Amino acid sequence: MTEPSAQPFLLFAYPSITDREKKAVMEVLDSGWLTTGPKTKLFEQRFADTVGARFAIALNSATAALHLALEAFGVSEGDDVIVPTWTFAASAEVVAYLGARPVLIDVDPVTLNATPEAIVAAITPATKAVVVVHIAGYPVDMARLMELLEPLGISVVEDSAHAFPTRIGSAGGRFAGTFGRAGAYSFYATKTITTGEGGMLVTDDPAIADRARLMSLHGISRNAWNRYAGSGSWYYEIEDVGYKYNMTDMAAAMGLVQLDRADELLAARRDLSARYSAKILASSVSDLIDLPADTPDGSHAWHLYVVRLQTERLRIDRGQVADGLKALGIGTSVHFIPLHLHPYYVRKGFVATDFPMATREYERVLSLPIWPGLTGNDIDRVVSGLEAVLGPARA
Ligand SMILES: *Cc1c(COP(=O)(O)O)cnc(C)c1O
Repeated sequence: MTEPSAQPFLLFAYPSITDREKKAVMEVLDSGWLTTGPKTKLFEQRFADTVGARFAIALNSATAALHLALEAFGVSEGDDVIVPTWTFAASAEVVAYLGARPVLIDVDPVTLNATPEAIVAAITPATKAVVVVHIAGYPVDMARLMELLEPLGISVVEDSAHAFPTRIGSAGGRFAGTFGRAGAYSFYATKTITTGEGGMLVTDDPAIADRARLMSLHGISRNAWNRYAGSGSWYYEIEDVGYKYNMTDMAAAMGLVQLDRADELLAARRDLSARYSAKILASSVSDLIDLPADTPDGSHAWHLYVVRLQTERLRIDRGQVADGLKALGIGTSVHFIPLHLHPYYVRKGFVATDFPMATREYERVLSLPIWPGLTGNDIDRVVSGLEAVLGPARA
């Protein structure tokens, strides 16, 4: 075994927080208005302007955004919603929240995304909606998907939790998340921009925006405020059984600064991914590692840097590689354990052989640390770690 490292542990993910975010949050704390207020309104406006959407609704998570989007689409009991098996729990659980059925599908082995063709092939008369996931920030061909789906009247929500601020298509194309009827972005602590916890729902459809806004805060009608403005600010009307999904002004203040820094943060991720790929190709274990696919139009958001191990050429498995790197003080992760392999979905009747690509690729994926602030030295350390762990394990 290799000697444990004397260097500090290299974390898998770490947020980029500057004095600007700290100052912005302190200002909110000093203002006396902590919950949804002026900062949240401004964050919504700026976000909508940035991505070019008509409406943006700030929420406490992307999970909330996905849930509200499907609810606004009218997804309910008896409906099917197509979801790729290669994703986080949130993308499919929101379907079950509404009493509908998540119909899992396999993914492309290179991009780890569901392809437009695979999505269309899974459609039945019961299909009400599709959740599209841009894995790691590699965007799905949304123009193609929408061309195929629009004539069928099936609503699409883009799970863009990994895909901000990414434009699909060459020379400043449209933002991932703005092609579908709705898009959901995550500002979770490890995502490309963060508010600690937070999310944003975007749409161009006023009916979706109105419904999602209503349901985001207890089903309480804001129109009532306008209608009865004269009778005082205490009046409201409960229109439906809603949820408690609003964003705080502390989070929004942080989000405004992160949004301002989004291009800088993206540039850092792109630079790190390029360094990784060059270093791995030049390493003594380049034949044991498949690099992540890049997009032809430079639209990858690089939320994750996911390599594939050539496990058939190794005497150790992926778990042992992760353990070996951990012993050297290097954090890694796996994105994702496909949904169909989890106990809940196994109980629903899914088996490993249902989705051969996802099941196969799951055995060999490994996510390496990637976050703005990581240095060239850190990248060298990770690649040296891969050489130290993989080299002696060559079959
Ligand atoms: C993080 C993530 C989510 C959920 O985001 P939250 O803001 O934590 O709710 C949804 N989908 C994917 C693919 C994610 O990685």
